[in-house]
Amino acid sequence: MISAFSRLPGVGPKSAERFSYFLLRSGGEVAEELRASIQAALQSTKVCSQCFNLDEQDPCSICSDEGRDQQVMLVVEDPRDVTAFEESGFRGLYHVLQGRVSDLEGIGPEDLTIGPLFERLSRLRSSEVCLATSPDLEGEGTAQILAERLAERGLAVSRIARGIPAGSSITQVSKSILADALEGRRKLS
Ligand SMILES: [Zn+2]
Repeated sequence: MISAFSRLPGVGPKSAERFSYFLLRSGGEVAEELRASIQAALQSTKVCSQCFNLDEQDPCSICSDEGRDQQVMLVVEDPRDVTAFEESGFRGLYHVLQGRVSDLEGIGPEDLTIGPLFERLSRLRSSEVCLATSPDLEGEGTAQILAERLAERGLAVSRIARGIPAGSSITQVSKSILADALEGRRKLS
C-alpha cells in the first residue's frame, strides 16, 4: 500500500506511510469509500477523442457544444487547466496536450497530443491558437516549440499575458487572474 501511494504525484514515502496506517486504523470504512469512488470515476471518465479533455462523454461536453466560439483554441497542458479556464469565463475551444516538454522527465513534443492538434486545426475554423501552458520554464519551452510549428503553418498564435506569477501553474491561480491573462494575450505570429 505504501509503495502504491508513493506513486501518486507529490506524495513522498512519509505521507504514503501515514495514509496507509490511517486506512488500516480506520477499520476499512474510508478505504472502501476510496475504492468505490476511484472505481466509479475510472468507469465514468473518458478521454475526449477530439481535445483530450476528461469527461463523462466522448466527444466531451465542450467539443459537442455547437454554441462554443470556434475562432479561438486554447492549448493547455492538463484537463485541470480546462476547468480553471472554464471558471474564468472562456467560451472557445480547448486542446489538452497531456503534459509538457520536459528534458528532465524525458518527455518530447512527440509524446504530447501535437499531431492531433494540427489535424484538428486543419478541420476547424479556428483563426487563433492561444498557448496557455504554465508560465514556468517547461511551460514556456513547450509554448515556444508550439509557436514555431504553428507559425510554419501560417496560423495566428498568441500567448496568455504575464500576470500569472512566473513559476506557478495554471491551476494555482485565481479565475480573475486567468481572465485577465486571456484578455491581455499577446500575438506571437
Ligand atoms: Zn473535447
